[in-house]
Amino acid sequence: MAVETVVPAANGNAAKVGPATLEKDYEKLRFIEEMTANADAVQEKVLAEILTRNAETEYLWRYGLGGATDRLTFKAKVPVVTYEDLQPEIQRIANGDRSAILSAHPISEFLTSSGTSAGERKLMPTIKEELDRRQLLYSLLMPVMNLYVPGLDKGKGLYFLFVKSETNTPGGLTARPVLTSYYKSEHFKSRPYDPYNVYTSPTAAILCADAFQSMYAQMLCGLLQRLDVLRVGAVFASGLLRAIRFLQLHWKELSQDIAAGTLTAKVTDPSIRSAVAELLKPDRELARLLAAECSEEEWAGIITRIWPNTKYLDVIVTGAMAQYIPTLEYYSGGLPMACTMYASSECYFGLNLNPMCEPSEVSYTIMPNMAYFEFLPHGGDGHHPGEGVDTAQLVDLADVEVGKEYELVITTYAGLNRYRVGDVLRVTGFHNAAPQFRFVRRKNVLLSIESDKTDEAELQKAVERASALLRPYNASVVEYTSHADTKAIPGHYVIYWELLAKDSSSSAAAAPALARDGVMERCCLAMEEALNSVYRQSRVADGSIGPLEIRVVRGGTFEELMDYAISRGASINQYKVPRCVNFPPILELLDSRVVSAHFSPALPKWIPYFPGRN
Ligand code: AMP
Repeated sequence: MAVETVVPAANGNAAKVGPATLEKDYEKLRFIEEMTANADAVQEKVLAEILTRNAETEYLWRYGLGGATDRLTFKAKVPVVTYEDLQPEIQRIANGDRSAILSAHPISEFLTSSGTSAGERKLMPTIKEELDRRQLLYSLLMPVMNLYVPGLDKGKGLYFLFVKSETNTPGGLTARPVLTSYYKSEHFKSRPYDPYNVYTSPTAAILCADAFQSMYAQMLCGLLQRLDVLRVGAVFASGLLRAIRFLQLHWKELSQDIAAGTLTAKVTDPSIRSAVAELLKPDRELARLLAAECSEEEWAGIITRIWPNTKYLDVIVTGAMAQYIPTLEYYSGGLPMACTMYASSECYFGLNLNPMCEPSEVSYTIMPNMAYFEFLPHGGDGHHPGEGVDTAQLVDLADVEVGKEYELVITTYAGLNRYRVGDVLRVTGFHNAAPQFRFVRRKNVLLSIESDKTDEAELQKAVERASALLRPYNASVVEYTSHADTKAIPGHYVIYWELLAKDSSSSAAAAPALARDGVMERCCLAMEEALNSVYRQSRVADGSIGPLEIRVVRGGTFEELMDYAISRGASINQYKVPRCVNFPPILELLDSRVVSAHFSPALPKWIPYFPGRN
């Protein structure tokens, strides 16, 4: 039913998010208005709710909260913490301690974050009702999108969505990524029909843990319904590019299946087979079209060539994903890219109220009902493991200042108290009384291809491990730097090494022996083995990161790099070799000095791991 009105903002400032066309949307938009207009009051209420329900938890007792639920007492008594600080509690929960350690509500499962600690995924405890909160945030996305793109109920979304493997902790709790948990929940599986949220992918295909079968079926169903598709998406830009890569590799097989009306025997999952059978009929015309488009040398605009009614791409291209914008533009012929939400395993944070804006303009409005949010002014850090931050510096959601950068600190219903997420955000403005944030970056991330996050210390450790293999050859790594190469899909890590052979002071002398014994290739694999488990899982289980490459550069290259930096104004005393480079002239300089390139010859080892289990 059409509602011929604008959304009245709670502060009387009408139509901030535009006119709503459906009554259901109108309710959701009103909710956004109410929450954002009363951001501070909602935050106060959220904190009081969390502290009331968790008053008897061991954690809050330890800090002597004594049942207080007000902000002042909370801020005075409860420390700001990192994951490492909480590890003993998390370990106990993982080992089966069911007492109210962090949360009064039973921990229902662990969500495995793509952020790592000591090389392993962080385990985020969660409670059942968090699913409702996540679903509430999801339910706000289409009402906002409908304000900008009309007619999305007239077609479908081609979304490439995947579950990942899950395991149990020693104490018997399931541990899996937050989206796997969501897709496997009744909230998703038994969602009521909503014309604005019809997907081309059968749920059975989304829920299949076998990445090939899942992708094949989702692509096939997307092709079969190509004219219905109004939006194409994945969670992150890297996921959508993997789907395009999959099409490049498998279009022949897909078009044979479409022509014959039969599903390849490679897809064995019975529930996928029966879901696909409902759609798949022989369609020679479509098979011919697919083959004609895909056999073209040029894949520019392939998305709109195959799915001509696509209005926008629904993918996150902020943060580390910004590196994929040019490639997505190429494949989509410049379709708008909508970044709709900002979320994590710890908590879903907020949404973009202007989703059709340019990627560089994206700001997320944190929804004050999701958790209690505080902001640590960025740069005012001073936190070292074991020490506290100066908690007086933290400001509340409603008190952040436009133009300033902050690190996000959250207190969640599931029992994280004043927890540093590690994201740096810049305030760009306000929607009503709720601030809007640009995602600036995740702290300490040097290299990222998709959800992997490799920091400087991890890279350093990996280089050290690998360079030990050079010792028998009297060679060593004198300098190194790195780059996440995403020109081809999947992307891969490139590590530039300058070598020194001890006896001749030239790497050229060691080169024949290193080449003969395949040492450099072994170094690539040794580096991969030393990287964190998210990296290795992406390599092994998902195939979403390609083999690591070492490019050996000739002697003196890093000195040239320094000269270049100094010529551009760097101070000679303060110059440090950058451990990651993205600036094109520097990459060009490095690449022009490469004497040999080597790839990892095998997959690193990866097994799902849990603390306390060998
Ligand atoms: P995870 O812990 O694996 O769920 O990853 C959550 C992290 O992904 C966040 O803390 C951010 O660093 C990043 N992230 C999530 N949503 C966005 C977004 N819309 N833009 C940029 N980065 C994001």
